Amino acid sequence: SAKKSGRGQHRFFDKSLNRKDVEAFHLEQSFSDALRNREFVLHYQPQVCLETMNIIGFEALVRWKHPEFGTLYPDRFITIAENCGFVIPLGLEVLRLACAQFAQWKAEGLPVTPIAVNVSPIQLTEPEFCWQVMALIDEFGLSPDQLELEITETAMLDASAVESLHCLKAEGIKLSLDDFGTGYSGFAHLESVPVDKLKIDRSLIAKISNSHDDSPIVSSTIILAKRMNLKVVAEGVETREQLVHLKVAGCDIAQGYHLSRPISADQVPEFVRTFNRREAVVLAG
Ligand code: C2E
Ligand code: MG
Ligand code: MG
Ligand code: MG
Repeated sequence: SAKKSGRGQHRFFDKSLNRKDVEAFHLEQSFSDALRNREFVLHYQPQVCLETMNIIGFEALVRWKHPEFGTLYPDRFITIAENCGFVIPLGLEVLRLACAQFAQWKAEGLPVTPIAVNVSPIQLTEPEFCWQVMALIDEFGLSPDQLELEITETAMLDASAVESLHCLKAEGIKLSLDDFGTGYSGFAHLESVPVDKLKIDRSLIAKISNSHDDSPIVSSTIILAKRMNLKVVAEGVETREQLVHLKVAGCDIAQGYHLSRPISADQVPEFVRTFNRREAVVLAG
């Protein structure tokens, strides 16, 4: 298939290539230009402490301002970038953008707390990854606990990735397990990997309905996580009912459209300043 043949090699389309392969081919071809032309930008989605209703951090989410295709969301291109190895330079660019932005907000005195950055398991398998992260932290004058890396369960299945996680943890970087409740969902894995937080996947949060019924999976996950001294984040919180259920169930942090969609860096200062006024409205639905 086109995917398997080497980079830079000439490739022919034949009738067996479907639309997705063709699109993947085109995106792959424009990856390096995109880096050079700074087409990747980060949007930021707030995470809110359910106890205080204060913003306690932002998750950085990459978007690709493609000159031909318009704004592309990560689900369109991350897997393609993983398959061709581009996710490694892309991941470094994302980390650099997040650190630079965070350093600027810090200098402006904006009380934005840790920035969470998504990391592909492929990045973690690189032995130098941990040191590249520490070099960025240094370059931008951040402290390690101001950066949080969101990893997925697949990273916990690879020995060299686990090694990176231990290295990052030893350096004081915070680790958060993303999309919990999809895939393997082993609490068993959690004993061998040093994560600080668990993010319950939005497919589970979506099961919390308007009825009086809480989702038993969500509430049991929260109880188990707490027993393991992990902070719990609910992602994809879309309704006031879900927010209330989660607070009652003991969830620590919420993130989702009900609180805010991901916003551009420009919008963050104003959002932070007005959030306390807005929170009353959010809670009232
Ligand atoms: P994720 O890390 O689980 O991020 C949450 C995704 O859910 C984001 O989609 C976010 O916009 C969306 N979301 C947040 N709240 C809600 C809600 O209330 N309802 C619904 N329906 N969706 C909500 P996005 O930005 O399209 O990112 C998708 C995935 O792409 C992310 O899932 C993450 O796995 C990956 N990703 C994003 N940025 C990066 C990156 O810089 N590097 C890597 N390797 N992966 C990234
Ligand atoms: Mg994430
Ligand atoms: Mg997630
Ligand atoms: Mg996801």
